[in-house]
Amino acid sequence: MSDVLLRGATRILIGGPEWDETSGDLLVREGRIRHVGGDLGEPVEGVRVLDASGLTLLPGLVQTHVHLCQTIFRGHAEELSLLPWLHDRIWPLEAAHDSESLRASARLSVLELLLSGTTTILDMGTTHHHTAVFETLEETGIRAASGKAMMDEGEGVPVGLLETTLDSLRDSFDLAERWDGGANGRLRYAFAPRFVLSCSDELLRDVVAMAKGKYLLHTHASENRDETRRVIELKGRRNVEHLDHLGFLGPGTLVAHGIWVDEEEVARLARSGTHVVHCPHTNLKLGSGICEVRRLLDAGVDVTIGCDGAPANNRLDAFAEMRTAALLASVKAGPGSVTARQILTMATRRGAEALGWADRIGRLDAGTEADVIAVDLDTPHSTPVADPVTALVYSARASDVRHVLVQGEVLVENAAPVRLDPAGVLEDAREAERRTLERAVEHGFAATRPPVAESPSPEVFP
Ligand SMILES: [Zn+2]
Repeated sequence: MSDVLLRGATRILIGGPEWDETSGDLLVREGRIRHVGGDLGEPVEGVRVLDASGLTLLPGLVQTHVHLCQTIFRGHAEELSLLPWLHDRIWPLEAAHDSESLRASARLSVLELLLSGTTTILDMGTTHHHTAVFETLEETGIRAASGKAMMDEGEGVPVGLLETTLDSLRDSFDLAERWDGGANGRLRYAFAPRFVLSCSDELLRDVVAMAKGKYLLHTHASENRDETRRVIELKGRRNVEHLDHLGFLGPGTLVAHGIWVDEEEVARLARSGTHVVHCPHTNLKLGSGICEVRRLLDAGVDVTIGCDGAPANNRLDAFAEMRTAALLASVKAGPGSVTARQILTMATRRGAEALGWADRIGRLDAGTEADVIAVDLDTPHSTPVADPVTALVYSARASDVRHVLVQGEVLVENAAPVRLDPAGVLEDAREAERRTLERAVEHGFAATRPPVAESPSPEVFP
């Protein structure tokens, strides 16, 4: 691992929640930040120099809910609400995956994520072949917590996805044992029961008994009204209440969405220290609703940010998520109710904390591991920069990212990926998409064209 000098940055934003600012050089030695700010003079031999003049350095972005396995299905599940989106499109497509199509999907995902400044993710896979995802995470250099989806029951789950409770647990533990702490500590395992509607109480209880406290727990809850209603019908309890009842909530648990939660559920999330992952574009596109971030923060719930899966977004772009999160908060609770500083902190420091990596990443302090991005704010759409934090949240775009380092390794230099070959990644993704679509028909995949849209329900938005 070579030492790296990011030279002459216009700004260096140390990190949230204060977002103190300095400028000049940032030195990385043996994967860690050694010095921040000022002019370090001529670099010693063996130090790789990256020009950061005109650029703004900040901690790499952390997205705490993504599905790398879904990226090659981008565009194949348009204009549907959650349950038909899953039943008719996503589950049959996931059931058609093999190791090579998963690898192609994961590589495409990581290429997009790194180029747009995301250095750390929490990923939920599909039920099978998840080794291919971890191999890709190891190969591509991104920092990731990941885990196979767990699904041992549920209405409309294709046979190709369904597992026995025992197999689901055994496969998850095998993966956790193999990959947790791998790649110099850059990889972690996260147990991922998909959601209450696809997991037996027995499975959730066993995950809690065997994995809680040792590994991260990751699920979806209260994303959509139909899902929330069905959970009450089947379990006799509300979604978050049910998860709490089974012991699933806690400081090592991340729950995606958390839109349709009542006051008691919000209190349970806060009391247990559970993290809620806000996925604004997915929630808007699937017509699910809007997560009330200000309300959650007021109750003491920690909130982080994620782009979710490509078929529900359609981009894996943390800049877009931050901007929309800020705009939605403005509509829900007033301008500034969730500030740009808070949003950028959610997408860096808070995300790192939620994944148990607060001692390693999320701020550019000397001694921390060097996950750093360099962003060009010297562009027509960001000039002038009255405040670099608001410029990053409201003006900057994914394509403004110039350099990306993870654990001190340069993975993107001058907006070009270092480890991945973009043309090859795209070609493999298209080929994997074609093969997977052919196979998906056997698993119940109906059509690639969206049906005629129904009139939106007037009660979708609160
Ligand atoms: Zn999701």
